[in-house]
Amino acid sequence: VEDVSEDSPEDLEPRPPVVVVMGHVDHGKTSILDALRKANVADGEAGGITQHIGAYMVKLEGGERVVFVDTPGHEAFTGLRARGASMTDVAVLVVAADDGVMPQTVEALNHARAAGVPIIVAMNKMDKEGADPEKVMRQLAEHEVIPEEWGGNTMFVPVSAHTGLGLDDLLEMLALQTEILELKANPQRRGKGIVVESRLDRGRGPVATVLVQNGTFNQGDTVVVGSATGRLRAIVDENSVQHRTAGPSIPFELLGLDSVPEAGQEIFAVENEKQARDIVRYRKDMEREQGAEAKKR
Ligand code: GDP
Repeated sequence: VEDVSEDSPEDLEPRPPVVVVMGHVDHGKTSILDALRKANVADGEAGGITQHIGAYMVKLEGGERVVFVDTPGHEAFTGLRARGASMTDVAVLVVAADDGVMPQTVEALNHARAAGVPIIVAMNKMDKEGADPEKVMRQLAEHEVIPEEWGGNTMFVPVSAHTGLGLDDLLEMLALQTEILELKANPQRRGKGIVVESRLDRGRGPVATVLVQNGTFNQGDTVVVGSATGRLRAIVDENSVQHRTAGPSIPFELLGLDSVPEAGQEIFAVENEKQARDIVRYRKDMEREQGAEAKKR
């Protein structure tokens, strides 16, 4: 949920929603994401090997795009929350219709609430013998998540990741929710984003998945993240396809940093390398000072 109040309204353009799928372990988050991905028309176009980069984009039949964040454990979600921000616009809360609400369901619910993002409930495993969607609705209503059918304002959708039941409805609801949110960003300005995942790759060096929050990153841009810097050597999507640019809400893999950033850190493009060096030096000085302070205590 990006603050675009600095941008003049005429520069703002619609951007795709960023969706996080949360829920109790084994309730079917991964299965739903996989199933949605298989239904993705964009995947077929690329035809490449998809790799896990922690976020990916799905193109719907109508041409709308939805970005899913599938970073395990939602650490980034939690870390960002502490700073009053969130990288997601909508949360899909997955509840297995046979098990019903479990401790991590409530935990996920609380995260989404604290971040102030709207929730769509996916009642999964509807193909199972013991599936009881009514129970899920009742249980969540006890946590003040009231289905629209009962006069509340939360969309509940029965789905099965196994049979594919209701997945179209889920996507439709996401599209609907997106319309309501009127998500906008300014693709004209310099890129600004959030690190979703990062690691040190033996062959390729520091690798980070970036989700663009505002503006556009261009190949060749100099970027700063934490006290790391580098030039955007390549912008690569989850299908290993290279792009020259990445605009608002687009996830991409970033190569070319001089050290590994942390998930949840903000990344932005700067004017030139000198500016990058100045920012990094300042940040490193701050870190040292804070380190010295901590030792004194
Ligand atoms: P996660 O931990 O939330 O990511 O859950 P997974 O996607 O790994 O699913 C946990 C287990 O539930 C796996 O054995 C899945 O095959 C199974 N599962 C997921 N979705 C469905 C479903 O719609 N129907 C049935 N019967 N099983 C499911």
